[in-house]
Amino acid sequence: MNFVTPALFAEHMQMLVAHGFVGVTVRDVTRWQCGEIELPSRAVAITFDDAYESVQQFATPILEKHRWPCTVYVVTSQVGGSNVWDPAAPRAQLLDAVALRSLAAAGHDIGSHSRRHCRIRGLDFDTARDELAGSREELEAHIGGAVESFAFPYGSHDKRTLEMVRAAGYRAACTLKRWANGKDTNPFRLGRVSVGGLLPAWQLRLKLLKMLLTPAIA
Ligand SMILES: [Zn+2]
Repeated sequence: MNFVTPALFAEHMQMLVAHGFVGVTVRDVTRWQCGEIELPSRAVAITFDDAYESVQQFATPILEKHRWPCTVYVVTSQVGGSNVWDPAAPRAQLLDAVALRSLAAAGHDIGSHSRRHCRIRGLDFDTARDELAGSREELEAHIGGAVESFAFPYGSHDKRTLEMVRAAGYRAACTLKRWANGKDTNPFRLGRVSVGGLLPAWQLRLKLLKMLLTPAIA
């Protein structure tokens, strides 16, 4: 399950703050990897794939209470639409352009999650370019600012797609690999831990600590 309840999310946030974790965006991680800024050792970037309306409805009010920014990955053909790419799932409303602009204005980071939420690996060159560069341009027009990072739908990528993401004008990309990101981690293969269902806060903490011990593979 890809969701947590607002109450559980609030518990997760309290755990992170209580244990000295500090909120950053994926854009901050990029700047840090490039030596442009310093980050604390317990920096955590919270990301939301698919850009559901519930992010603004429930999550960002809690995040903003803790002055914690997030990164939201948008399926750019469905801005203001719904999760049509997954007919088996219940319909869920997605953020519209006004909401995305207001999140960006509040200091959150907006990234691309492709145009149609398709697996990038194995796509022919033109379709992949449309999904990567096309979604970036579409999203930049929506938010009126630069879009720097991409999140692979279903985590689907290979060496060739990493290169295509770079060529499409991104500085970073998120996978579903479970490793913590260091200065040497391939910026187009950033690791993440998935959070969903009934995961208690203490288990999330264990997941994070375990990640810190997992070396990234280039
Ligand atoms: Zn997704």
